[in-house]
Amino acid sequence: MDIKEILNSLHTKIKSLPHQGEQATYIPELLTVDADRFGVYVANLDLTGIGVGDYEQAFSIQSIAKVLSVSLAYQLCGESIWSRVGVEPSGTAFNSLLQLEADNGIPRNPFINSGAMVICDILITALDDPKEDFLTFVKTIANNPTLSYSTQIAESEKEIGYRNIALCNLIKSFDNLNNEPDEVLDFYFNLCSLEMSCEAVAKLFLYLANNGTCPISGTDVLTLSQSKRINALMQTCGFYDESGEFSFKVGLPGKSGVGGGIVAIHPDQYAIVVWSPRLNAKGNSYKGMLFLEEFTSLTEQSIF
Ligand code: GLN
Repeated sequence: MDIKEILNSLHTKIKSLPHQGEQATYIPELLTVDADRFGVYVANLDLTGIGVGDYEQAFSIQSIAKVLSVSLAYQLCGESIWSRVGVEPSGTAFNSLLQLEADNGIPRNPFINSGAMVICDILITALDDPKEDFLTFVKTIANNPTLSYSTQIAESEKEIGYRNIALCNLIKSFDNLNNEPDEVLDFYFNLCSLEMSCEAVAKLFLYLANNGTCPISGTDVLTLSQSKRINALMQTCGFYDESGEFSFKVGLPGKSGVGGGIVAIHPDQYAIVVWSPRLNAKGNSYKGMLFLEEFTSLTEQSIF
């Protein structure tokens, strides 16, 4: 079977399986999205690509954006960022307060919420206009001037984001934030509210399949070593306390978001994005994970 046939048959098969899980309720605006949406896009390094289902519809990429923010911080500040945030799997939920307390305010990795907040703090210090400059960074890599934040999603999360507010204040209390929690949270919620289609995310993330340079725009985002390290972090930490499971079943570096999206990278080959809004208990897309597991099995193309 060729890739197109595999994508089409898996899409039909997995879309029709019984549903499991539900959308994230702590961001009320996410509930306005039709939970039955299901899109997939594979972007190849030679700039060809194939989409199935709702691959052109923009969705809330949520924590997938944390890969972009840590990439920019790494580009701007180099290895110094790792004194503020670790590179170890957390083995706990993405919003754990308990672990942050035990670790004295140094988050385990940049993909859990507390780690992403520290990265936001680093970017606020490094950039003149953090929200605008970050968006420009993303638009430039993707060569896509239409990308934007969703004010509704960001506001909706901010309104009842009690746990994230608590996390941010706890980091500040341990002196691991240089800026005020309000400013860090505002940037963090906006970052998570970025909206993109499966196709746009897959093309954007090709820089991680291409040693740090985006083949779409020719932008040098990361050095070779930095790109390998971000892939390593995605492999070990991209799915919170389900990172081992994703690695075991899918065998690619990846990152999920509570909007139901998952991006996975096959270095030197492709980036694939699946979007299906219902989440499992760990906050990762239920059908997205199933799809990717079968995709790498049928194509025999995991990194292992
Ligand atoms: N904005 C969400 C939060 O902070 C992102 C979480 C996620 O996508 N895993 O909780």
